[in-house]
Amino acid sequence: MQKNDLVTVQIEDMGTGGEGIGKVDGCALFIKDAIIGDLVEAKIMKMKKNYGYARLMNILTPSPARQNARCREARRCGGCQIQEMDYRQQLAFKKDKVENNLLRLGGVPREILESAMEGIIGMDEPFRYRNKAQYPVGRDREGRLTAGFYAGRTHQIIPVPDMDCALGAEDNQAVLEKILAFMEEYSISPYDEEAHAGLVRHVLIRKGFTTGELMVCLVINGESIPHSDVLAKRLSQIPGMTSITCSINREKTNVIMGNEIRTIWGQSYITDYIGPVKFHISPLSFFQVNPVQTEKLYGAALEFAGLTGKETVWDLYCGIGTISLFLAREAGQVYGVEIVPQAIEDAKNNAAANGIENARFHVGKAEEVLPDLYEKEGIRADVIVVDPPRKGCEQAVLETMVKMQPERIVYVSCDPATLARDVKYLRESGYEIKRVKAVDMFPHTVHVETVCCLHRVNS
Ligand code: SAH
Repeated sequence: MQKNDLVTVQIEDMGTGGEGIGKVDGCALFIKDAIIGDLVEAKIMKMKKNYGYARLMNILTPSPARQNARCREARRCGGCQIQEMDYRQQLAFKKDKVENNLLRLGGVPREILESAMEGIIGMDEPFRYRNKAQYPVGRDREGRLTAGFYAGRTHQIIPVPDMDCALGAEDNQAVLEKILAFMEEYSISPYDEEAHAGLVRHVLIRKGFTTGELMVCLVINGESIPHSDVLAKRLSQIPGMTSITCSINREKTNVIMGNEIRTIWGQSYITDYIGPVKFHISPLSFFQVNPVQTEKLYGAALEFAGLTGKETVWDLYCGIGTISLFLAREAGQVYGVEIVPQAIEDAKNNAAANGIENARFHVGKAEEVLPDLYEKEGIRADVIVVDPPRKGCEQAVLETMVKMQPERIVYVSCDPATLARDVKYLRESGYEIKRVKAVDMFPHTVHVETVCCLHRVNS
């Protein structure tokens, strides 16, 4: 096999990036947009020694799990990887991924995993779940003003009319149309990355799903938007509009948001709820993008924590304190640790806004704060919750957790591979897996979240 050869491939597996995998002459081929069960014709793009990459040319026999994507541009867009796969199959694929990691990388015995593993929590309606979208603004090849999403791995914009993103809120379309029409009318230039010139770089739209409040923030390469009163008047007619701001970003950078936010109309923030807890969301605040599933995920974390009102709980990698505030209502005392100072500011404000007085927060690296407080102050915990980024927990965090001897450790994970690695260490250090639940926070993408409860076993 060599570059440009056409081959027929039966897709038998799926890679971590959602690409279909099939074998030809004993050699694995990775084929984007092919799904398990498809028989496809593909063109070899690149060959390595034992594997290669091929482009999907034709679907000869479609998989029973194949369905039409809802987005017209699903394949070109970099956002989703498996929109053409039936949702039940997506869920089965994600649950398998969690199980396989725990079995193979985590070394969890099959009978223990089988009794711990619960069903994956999917969405009843797996579309329109994102409460946040960031659209680049630019010009298309013909020089027309456009806004949309970047095509996968490029900075070429797929324009909005072609791609009303089926994961985002329906309101997004109207907001962008009004902004583009306004820019056209008043000759306001979009930002040009190459030349580092032009004004409007990105449009950020956020929606409070519970409150219906809408936020629009225009990221600009300048100090202000000419005729912004006209823009504000038009945007404020959209039902739910609560906050219109601009963010100043004059740097030559891929970072979307600038740090300075100016209010153009209404408030500088919107409000939303996860379960009973209220959050203030500013353009720069972190907030979970799928609030419906977040409530289920953190609800499971709370259930696994098994609180009775007396416990001391540590919530490591606490972000804006979403889990901490959920836990605080049923714990004695909660301590959160987070590396981003602004997130801790938000966490404290959110605690105050909800009248929660038994949550305290520390800024710093979990792998420094926890060992330090343990050595110097002998802190203890009945339950420790962790929700680390993809790379999982640092060794120093795992070691200190074990020394603290909590009854239960609740591990919330966005990457089953690092979860499995950390579970292996915890199982070798006196903890056993009791319950595992996967939650689908990002339907149509390959991501999966897991919450895993480990109990201390007498040894
Ligand atoms: N549960 C949180 C989100 C957790 S995401 C919420 O709902 O808000 C992981 C968090 O870990 C991020 O907020 C990130 O800033 C933080 N983080 C990353 N590395 C860290 C470290 N070494 N120590 C502490 N926090 C860290």
